[in-house]
Amino acid sequence: MSQKGILAVVSGFSGAGKGTLMKELLKQHADQYALSISATTRSPRVGEEHGREYFFVSKEEFEEMIGQDALIEHACYVGNYYGTPKSYVLEQMEAGRDVILEIEIQGALNVKKKFPDTLLLFVTPPSAGELERRLRGRGTETEDVIRDRLKRAVEEAEYMDQYDYILVNDDLDACVASMHELIQSQHGKTSQNLEFIAEMKQELKQL
Ligand code: 5GP
Repeated sequence: MSQKGILAVVSGFSGAGKGTLMKELLKQHADQYALSISATTRSPRVGEEHGREYFFVSKEEFEEMIGQDALIEHACYVGNYYGTPKSYVLEQMEAGRDVILEIEIQGALNVKKKFPDTLLLFVTPPSAGELERRLRGRGTETEDVIRDRLKRAVEEAEYMDQYDYILVNDDLDACVASMHELIQSQHGKTSQNLEFIAEMKQELKQL
């Protein structure tokens, strides 16, 4: 039974703990998952490396990628382009790995339009109060940045119901386990198993 990998998108409020969640999921199931690395025109932050967190490219290079149809989706976020390179995602899925895109909402909805089987997961803290506590708890952001992120969360919440599942990140291990289970359960979907179904029909007729 040949079966390709699942495409899953993970979005969520800034401060929901997506980064930690992704790291833990990939640590626990290194062979199963591939995390897509996006291209962006924003500058690298301290500690970020080209080809690890992002492919950091110029606006011209990014527009060339759009022109060559090399991106699955792209979006503008706070004045910079972000996009998902197509070839890596398709190669990994073909090799049977489940590919995760950690992207914002507009991109997520565009991916779903292109690939309707995409699983859309939205990560959130258990409450708005907890989101605010986590953002403040980082201790690295100014009050203005915290306000901006909270304002953006209000906008993003409008789209939460377009996701397939909401993952409440209260307990990290439990959240990682739920995410893994949700993605793995997609392998059983009929739309993922059309070849198997066709073979089974054929073989049954030959009995
Ligand atoms: P940051 O600049 O903080 O790394 O990312 C800003 C936002 O862009 C985050 O919400 C992140 O998930 C999103 N993002 C990262 N890569 C992509 C991408 O390839 N496409 C889209 N649409 N959003 C992305």
